Amino acid sequence: MRPSPIAATVDFERDGLRHGFLKLPHSHDASAWGSIMIPITVAKGGQGPTVLLTGGNHGDEYEGPIALFDLANRLNPAELSGRVILVPAMNFPAFGAAKRTSPIDGGNMNRAFPGRPDGSVTEKIADYFQRTLLPMADFVLDIHSGGKTLQFVPFAAAHVLEDKAQQERCIAAMRAFNAPFSLMLLEIDNVGMYDTAAEELGKTLVSTELGGGGSATAHTAAIAKRGVDNFLKHAGVMPGEPELKPSTLLDMPNADCYVTSETSGLIEYVVDLGDEVRQGDIIARVFDIERTGATPTEYRARLDGLLVGRHFPGLITMGDIVGVVAVPV
Ligand code: CA
Repeated sequence: MRPSPIAATVDFERDGLRHGFLKLPHSHDASAWGSIMIPITVAKGGQGPTVLLTGGNHGDEYEGPIALFDLANRLNPAELSGRVILVPAMNFPAFGAAKRTSPIDGGNMNRAFPGRPDGSVTEKIADYFQRTLLPMADFVLDIHSGGKTLQFVPFAAAHVLEDKAQQERCIAAMRAFNAPFSLMLLEIDNVGMYDTAAEELGKTLVSTELGGGGSATAHTAAIAKRGVDNFLKHAGVMPGEPELKPSTLLDMPNADCYVTSETSGLIEYVVDLGDEVRQGDIIARVFDIERTGATPTEYRARLDGLLVGRHFPGLITMGDIVGVVAVPV
């Protein structure tokens, strides 16, 4: 396969702290010979594993960029045993536009893997992670939240994997991140995801959903910052032990966890995130906005558990997620 067009302005191998860019040539109307400059920090000290930390995989999710821009200012390579590579805004064009997907090519980074060196801008970034950054890493943390259209209780996640030893490593790292909730996440469709790419390379991967709605709160930003430090301590790259608080372990046994809207309109939630629901309980009602006097459509929990995710905007469209219910273990 042809080489990536992306060039890193930072050295990945030397000890020390370096801030630079992943430079991706991009010729467009406003800059004929221009480049997209994706911020990256590399900190290396002593011997140890490599931890790859990312945020902004989706451009409208902010806990990851906050925690990683902050960490870049705190890292001291003299204290490290190993290497930290951090990219606060993986889909930098999307992040700059405050959008989930890239304004350049419409690319959804988390559906673009393994990417292509000769593809669209988003595919070129994915290919660089697939063939250059992921192979360097032992531990991989990708910090998501719900973006403008979803909101979640703050959780770190691991997946059920065929390799049970790898699955146990991922669960241990998820618990070390120590969000208020720790979830065995059943993906709707894992094809093209960065998570899947990292897992298929045998990496210890943790992802998160820390909030949503297109902004971050003081609470969720603090969870992300503490989680990143805990993750680095768990990997052995940062000195000290993870600071652990109670975390509720959750499972998603099957696709009944997802409730999808079959109507469009005004949504009224009758339970909030973190609330307990029983099978058959109403989660939300959707009113037809075109007329008064119509009976709202009721959406019910399909199993007993906690509401861990919901649609965020006040209006919902057919096919959107109404709720995600997960089961405490
Ligand atoms: Ca996301």
